[in-house]
Amino acid sequence: MITLHALTKIFPGGVHALDAIELTIADGEFFALLGPSGCGKTTLLRTIAGLETPTRGTVRIDGKDVTALPPGERDVAMVFQDYAIFPHMDVTANIAYPLRIRKVPRAERTAKAAGVAARLSLTELLHRRPAELSGGQQQRVALARAIACHPAAFLFDEPLSNLDARLRLEARTFLKRLQRELAVTTVFVTHDQAEALALADRIAVMSDGRMIQVATPAEIFHRPATTFVAAFIGSTPMNLLPAHATPGGLHVAGATLPLPGGVTPGDHLTYGVRPEYMTLSPAERPDAFPGAVTVLENLGTHTLVTLETPGALIQTVVPEGHEPPLGTPVWATPHRALLYRGDTLLTTR
Ligand code: ATP
Repeated sequence: MITLHALTKIFPGGVHALDAIELTIADGEFFALLGPSGCGKTTLLRTIAGLETPTRGTVRIDGKDVTALPPGERDVAMVFQDYAIFPHMDVTANIAYPLRIRKVPRAERTAKAAGVAARLSLTELLHRRPAELSGGQQQRVALARAIACHPAAFLFDEPLSNLDARLRLEARTFLKRLQRELAVTTVFVTHDQAEALALADRIAVMSDGRMIQVATPAEIFHRPATTFVAAFIGSTPMNLLPAHATPGGLHVAGATLPLPGGVTPGDHLTYGVRPEYMTLSPAERPDAFPGAVTVLENLGTHTLVTLETPGALIQTVVPEGHEPPLGTPVWATPHRALLYRGDTLLTTR
């Protein structure tokens, strides 16, 4: 279990990379830190690892305050984006390295390295050097090295980002299965929302050194707490539309929708709907956005349809072959919508 209390990092020059973080990561949990570049993900991971000293606050691992301990005494294994495996050592020596540091006898560490290598399908490669390995194989060596020392936690800093798209997907599935089998607490930094959704038990969405939302992938996807989270999550971004409440209803993109509870006439709100949660009709529908088809983009199995409605552009996806013709009028009916007042989620419907 990893517990962070009031964790703050202010770099020289005054950058608040971490701003009073409170967080508990459960034993065995796969936890993703997600956010745009510069939001503090790497700093947080490095602070847990002991590679960065916090300005204030504490880091506990299994209840023990490790804030003042050097990295080597924290019982965590970090896997970096560039793997940081040693070019002059073969695969066996790389995997066994942390055991050598701990003065494990040679025969024992070689046997252990072979065991971990077998688990990661590296047996054939034990005598090769990193330069003779593919990116995916190098990544598995880095993973094997992390596993070999049986740490209390794995800390991953974008470990998949140097792989090409296909390998990356393979490595993702592999990593998820491995983490399930080993049940080791894992903190995983990524700026890729799809990766976080696919891998994590829980996700923290970060911005400017703060955690904006900490929740399960389903909760983050369906009930993003702020418009920032809403805009960040989803392979096609959520439509976020200006909405105005009057006694007659909620006016959004040319439609007048029933006024939801908690909304008072005069309120200016943001209405959110994901492209996946709308259906298109060629005939007028109540509670639907009237629009004209302006752009069609091929996504393979689906097509992204951009509609011009009074006051906003709306995007929706339809199965391939079901696109309305360009320029035609259509009505888009929302099925799951979210309403934000200011930045904050007010209600879902
Ligand atoms: P990325 O996805 O680009 O790696 P990140 O979310 O991991 O970004 P951090 O690397 O943690 O972000 O950086 C957080 C903030 O702290 C940024 O504004 C960054 O410029 C700043 N920062 C990071 N390291 C240092 C440093 N050693 N000295 C000064 N400022 C730093």
